[in-house]
Parts: sequence; C-alpha cells; structure tokens
Amino acid sequence: MALLVKSNLQLRNALANLGDKVALVPTMGALHQGHISLIKLARSKVGEDGCVVVSDFVNPTQFNEEDDFSKYPRDIKSDFLVATTAGANILWTPGVKDIYPNSEIELIDAGYLGEVLEGKDRPGHFSGVVTVVSRLFELVMPKVAVFGQKDLQQVLVIKNFIRENKIPVNLAIAPTIREDSGVALSSRNNNLSENERDLARKIPIALAQGYDAAISGARIVDIREAVRDALTHPEIKIHYVELLNDQLETINNDHGWLLVAVSIGNTRLIDNSFIPLGIRN
Ligand code: AMP
Repeated sequence: MALLVKSNLQLRNALANLGDKVALVPTMGALHQGHISLIKLARSKVGEDGCVVVSDFVNPTQFNEEDDFSKYPRDIKSDFLVATTAGANILWTPGVKDIYPNSEIELIDAGYLGEVLEGKDRPGHFSGVVTVVSRLFELVMPKVAVFGQKDLQQVLVIKNFIRENKIPVNLAIAPTIREDSGVALSSRNNNLSENERDLARKIPIALAQGYDAAISGARIVDIREAVRDALTHPEIKIHYVELLNDQLETINNDHGWLLVAVSIGNTRLIDNSFIPLGIRN
C-alpha cells in the first residue's frame, strides 16, 4: 500500500520495524522520468519487500534567490501519483519545521567540493544541500540513498560528506535520463520557451563534441574549446565548461568529467558527461 506521509511522527510510524530495508530518494518534487528512474533503482536495491521513501521537500536553504524558491513548481497530488506508480511506498512531504525545528538553522559546510563550479555561482547552495540531506538521513535512516548523475557535483559533495562523517548509508547513482532531443530532463526545462528548448539541444551536442575530441586524443584546452564552440550563440550564456576529476581538480592523465553550465534566458541548465580514458593536460 502507498502512503502519503507528512509529519516526522507519521514517518517514524510508517518506518517502524523496517530495519535496513529502507531506500531514500531525495527530491524537490515536480517529479519526472528522471526521478522515476531513481525510484526504480531504489526498488532494485531493497527488493520487493523493502520500502522506498521519496522525500518531496523544496529546501529553502539551498536557494540563493527568494524568487527562485517561491517560483519552484509544487504539485503534491501529481507527485504522489507519479511516485507510487513508479513503485514508491511512501511519498514524504515534510514541512519546513519538520526538517528545521529550530528557528536558527545550523548549516553544514560543504568544503572545497561545494565552493567551485555551481558553488561559485550559487554561494551557500551546497551547504544547504548537505544540511538537508543530513537531516533526511537522520529522519529516515536509509540503507541506501539514490541520487542522479545529472547533478554530479551534488553527488560528489554528498559522497564526501558521507565518507568524512562515516554515515552508514550506501549511495546509488542513477544515470541521466534525457528527452529524445538529448536534453537532460529537469523541472527547470518547464521554464523554457520553444525557442529556448531548441537552443538547449546544443548542450548534449556540445558534450558529445567534447567527448569525441577527448577520444581522438585532444588536450584538455582543446576539448573545452570544442565544447564552447558548439555552445556559442548570442542567447546562450556559458557559465563554465570544465574537465575535472572526481575531486573536481585538474586532470592529469586520468579519466574525468566534462561539466557544463549555461543560462538560456533566465533558466540555468547543467549537464555532464563521463570521459572514461586518460586525458592529457
Ligand atoms: P531535484 O528534484 O531536481 O532536486 O532532483 C532530485 C534527484 O533527481 C537528484 O538526485 C537529481 O540528480 C535527480 N535527477 C534530476 N533530473 C534527473 C535526470 N534527468 N536523470 C536522472 N536523475 C535526475
């Protein structure tokens, strides 16, 4: 049976006696096929008799702009349907007081991994992410938590937080789900006009060009240039194109991640691709 759970007490009751059979999929709602793939991966980790909890919480501490936070799409009815159809047992929609009971919120520092790339352009964002994830872990105590590769820096920040604090949670990473056009699914895509959607197609094309350049032995500077060239358009603002290792540091003859962030109109979009072979600096 599927449950819609709101308060911490309801959550505790719903999870009583489940032991290590709980998987958590943290989300901010507006669920789409990307989230569905995370829910399915969570199910595969805990089995049919396990419990998949999808948290649906628009976390105020990870937004830098009040406007962005208040405009974030919220539709719990639709999320409940999507989550439970995908196989979730519980959709958990806590209120701010459930997650942050004290008026003074103690933010956790996300360290270097949280300061570069997205963190540089959105100061405090990853501190908010780690803080909320830590609270979600405390309240659900999952055996497994599932995150998407789409938000690679988030994955690396959380991985580091789990390791440093010896938190007994296994991370499972789900591959990025894309539209037929190649554009990574994101709730932010809903903010794009038709013309902007067309422009967004340049992102996966640019990543593919970078990948091809890497495979044919290009150096990092030329790989980045190939990606930038493919993104060049008066209506696309490039925030960064980087090729970095798992610690988000410069690569030296190693595999790595090609990471891109752009704004099209008022919408910021990120994407990434894994380059599996040794890249020359
Ligand atoms: P969000 O609701 O945007 O905070 O995302 C919740 C989780 O879904 C995060 O772990 C994201 O990385 C993941 N996610 C978002 N979009 C996608 C996608 N297109 N494919 C796979 N996972 C995704």
